[in-house]
Parts: sequence; structure tokens; C-alpha cells
Amino acid sequence: MITPAMLAFDRDHLWHPYAETPLARESVGVEDAEGVRLRLSNGTVVVDAMSSWWCAIHGYRHPVLDTAMHEQIGRMSHVMFGGLTHAPAIELGKLLLDCAPEGLEKVFYADSGSVAVEVAMKMALQYWRGLGIGGRNRFLTIRGGYHGDTFGAMSVCDPVGGMHTLFSGVLPEHLFAPAPRISFHESWDAADAAEFAVLADQHAPELAAVILEPIVQGAGGMRFHHPQYLRAVRAVCDQLELPLILDEIATGFGRSGTLFACEHAGIVPDILCVGKVLTGGYMTLAATLATDRIAHAISRGTGPLMHGPTFMANPLACAVGRASVQMVMDMDLTGIIGRIESALTEQLTPCRALPGVADVRVLGAIGVVEMREPIDVPVAQDIALANGVWLRPFGKLLYTMPPYIINDDDLRKITTAMRAIAQLDTQ
Ligand code: PMP
Repeated sequence: MITPAMLAFDRDHLWHPYAETPLARESVGVEDAEGVRLRLSNGTVVVDAMSSWWCAIHGYRHPVLDTAMHEQIGRMSHVMFGGLTHAPAIELGKLLLDCAPEGLEKVFYADSGSVAVEVAMKMALQYWRGLGIGGRNRFLTIRGGYHGDTFGAMSVCDPVGGMHTLFSGVLPEHLFAPAPRISFHESWDAADAAEFAVLADQHAPELAAVILEPIVQGAGGMRFHHPQYLRAVRAVCDQLELPLILDEIATGFGRSGTLFACEHAGIVPDILCVGKVLTGGYMTLAATLATDRIAHAISRGTGPLMHGPTFMANPLACAVGRASVQMVMDMDLTGIIGRIESALTEQLTPCRALPGVADVRVLGAIGVVEMREPIDVPVAQDIALANGVWLRPFGKLLYTMPPYIINDDDLRKITTAMRAIAQLDTQ
């Protein structure tokens, strides 16, 4: 049981994500969780509309994932990956290559999404070094992106909405094309990708790679761009022989309606980052996948890839990852995500009529209500909790990415809470 004294300690001594210390407002204590529900310290039970930041798609305490963890604990929880290997790493690797877009043949296990992005960037840098071509040290990306909080990842996050101003002078300066304007469901206009193509062309001799989140820009603004944009980016990369890094840490494993978001465009990256859903939210694990072409250039030209975290391929994480990915592969993703998408569309679209609402957009199992003004987060969270829902808005964005196992009634609870917040903000 989390006591008031424990909550006070948390407030005064524990740093939370993107938070000041001491916290301005006490955290909400969670005692335990099951299915889509969190049981809070005050005794209430709420539906998790956030899937613990995209991860817990199978719900909490899923028997298959619990068993995978218990069985692996009985064998070994950790062993170094330098010189040693184990079945969970091998079997998860095979599964990943089976389900990943065609052409990806190599897997690097990282311990978080940000590290997977660092590794992807390092692969691109080592690729050019391996080819013996100098001067290729910059990355081209698009505005409105988010790739993590380590320094390499931060340097390709949106330069305005991200943390660039705070760290100017420290972060390497990369190139930013305008954010795509045409959204997923609008009709395509090739002009949308024109500036990207010009920038890539102008700077090609200094570029190591292009990096972006395909289709869904998540924490940078929850925007969905057109599949043709991605096709245009792939075509530019092909023409200029630039590696394309796709960050599918948030979108991988079904969230946008296809197993990987790049499938909407029918394109394949040279380097792919996955994380979050990889372990169903049980353990921290991510992976960077690469084609043979990238891997061979690195290995033949420079030798080892210079990265090797202590907890690389942690057996517990890989064991639960193997179970989580297998469950995703056995799912009727189109049916499951299609059902959530229809319900979110039907139930959130009426928010468009509210004066404080700037936009409502839904793609796959992601529902976004964008307000005209920044949301008062504590007020919004109190409304959500009163409606039996855990929501975590940021900026002007009120959004949900529920667990895939959610039923219609619980989904309606979430959209009802979102409508109540959107409504309040307009009064
Ligand atoms: N890339 C994307 C697209 C993400 O959404 C996130 C996490 N929100 C990251 C990278 C960073 O992952 P992590 O928080 O595990 O470091």
C-alpha cells in the first residue's frame, strides 16, 4: 500500500519524466494493474488510455507474458552478451526478422528506444566510414519529430518543440525539412515533399542518413502524414544513395493499422528502430535492425559496430519480447485495430463541433483531439480520473492509444472522458 508519506517522498525526491523537483503536484500512486485497468492508491480503478506510453498493448498481467517471465527467471535473469548468447535472444531475433519489412537481416538489441536511435545513427555514420567516404556526418529529418532524449536522438527531434533551445551549442546541428502538411487521409500533392528533396540534394555530400518516424509523428505532435510522402522520401534516398532510418518505436507492431507503419507506403528502410511494444511493456528493450548492405559496409570497412551496452539482449527482456511479438503475429491485427479505429472515429469526431477544438484525427488505434489552447493538465487529469480513465495530455494534445485488448465499453469510457475534457476547455 502506498501511504501518504511515500507519496510525499516521491514528490520531494524522485525525478519523474520531464518534471521539476520537488513535483508541483503529487504523483498518482498505482498499487497494481490487470487487463486494461490500473488500481490506484486511493482505491479507485481506472482504464489506462495510454497503454503506458504505447507499450502495454496486451494489457497488464497477461498470463502468457507473466509465464514467459517466470520461466525465464527460473533459468537466468541476465548474462552478458559479449561472447555469450542464449535462446531468448536468438528466438526473438528470428521472430523480428520474420515479421520486419523484407531486406532487414541484422538485429542489434538496445536497452531503450533512445539508445536504439543512437545505434541507428551510429550505424549510418560507421557505414560511410566503412565505405571510406568522408564528410558524411549530418542527418536530415523533418520538423515535428521525436526520437528520444539522449543527445544524438535529441539532435533530430523537432528543433522548436523539442529541447534544442535548452541545449543549443551542445547539440550537433542537423538539417530539418518542413513537417509534412498533407495528412494521411487527404489527397496527395507532390509539392509537400519538394523542400525535403531540395534539402537532401543540396546537402547530399555531407549527409549520413535520413531519419524520421514513418506516417505517425508521435510525441512531436501526434500528426499523421501521407504515405506518398514516405514514398517520396524513399525515392530521394534511393536516388542519392542515402540510408533511410525509420523510427517505428511508437508505431511498430500494429498501432497504425499495419504491422509496421512503413507498410502503408509499401517501402522498406535500410535501418529500423523498434521498442515499446516489443516486450508488451514488461521490460525495457528495443532493437535496431539493418540490411546486409549496411552491416557489410560497417563490418568489412570498420570492423566491429562500436556499441555494446551492459544489459544488451537481457534474457528476461528477450524472453518476454519473444512472447509479446509472437502474440502480435498471431493476432488478427486488421480486425482488432480496425474495430478500435472505427470506435475512436465515431466517438471522437463529434468533438470537432466544440469551439475549443482545432482538429480531431484518428489513425489505427490512435485517437487525437487537438485543442486550440494548451490544456490545463492537472484539471484534465482530474476530469479523466473522475470518469474512470487515466489520460496524460501534453501541450494542446488530448490523445489515446489504448491497449489492443480493450473492449467497446472501456473504449467508450475513454472517449467520454476525452469529450468531457475537450468540452470543459471551451467553456
Ligand atoms: N522514438 C519514438 C518515436 C518514441 O516515441 C520514443 C519514446 N516515446 C523514443 C524514440 C524513445 O524511446 P525511449 O523512451 O524508450 O528511450
